[in-house]
Amino acid sequence: MNIQKGDETRLPTELGEFIAIPYLDSLNERCHVALVLGRLDDNSFVRIHSECLTGDALFSLRCDCGNQIEKAMRTIKEQGSGVIIYLRQEGRGIGLWNKLKAYALQDKGLDTVEANHQLGFRADERSYEVAVHILKDLGLKKIRLLTNNPDKIKGLNGSIEVTERIPLRVPENEHNHKYMQTKKDRMGHEV
Ligand SMILES: [Zn+2]
Repeated sequence: MNIQKGDETRLPTELGEFIAIPYLDSLNERCHVALVLGRLDDNSFVRIHSECLTGDALFSLRCDCGNQIEKAMRTIKEQGSGVIIYLRQEGRGIGLWNKLKAYALQDKGLDTVEANHQLGFRADERSYEVAVHILKDLGLKKIRLLTNNPDKIKGLNGSIEVTERIPLRVPENEHNHKYMQTKKDRMGHEV
């Protein structure tokens, strides 16, 4: 892993004023970003969020990513300190091209896990190695993790102690009902 830290900058948002810190992975040219609010300590809330162009930026109702990042930013703002680690691993790590292929298969009746398998991928191809690197760089060894996904704690490999897991409950809609159910039934998520 070869991660380069870039220049910090202010990022005022409707959900609070964050400091944006870029981390460039020179192996694949992906630029991840940490959004930091307030002074970080052992009680800080952390959200590790994987990019979802359709959900985060295009208001898609097929998943709950947009709602989750908004809720995470609001929660951190209310708490007064915390960090969002925004990882550029679209579509559970399979990329936008393949994610939209998987959506097309889901339109034909497959669930999200079956669609990934049909395309030759695992149900989840994400890695949290970069997140561990960023957390350590920010001086965090203990965190309170905002997530519905218990696997994310395992993904931190014991290098970061998760003292509390705080679920992010967001509302379902008619389009993401099946997706949310699959996450619950087949991927062990609490939603
Ligand atoms: Zn999404």
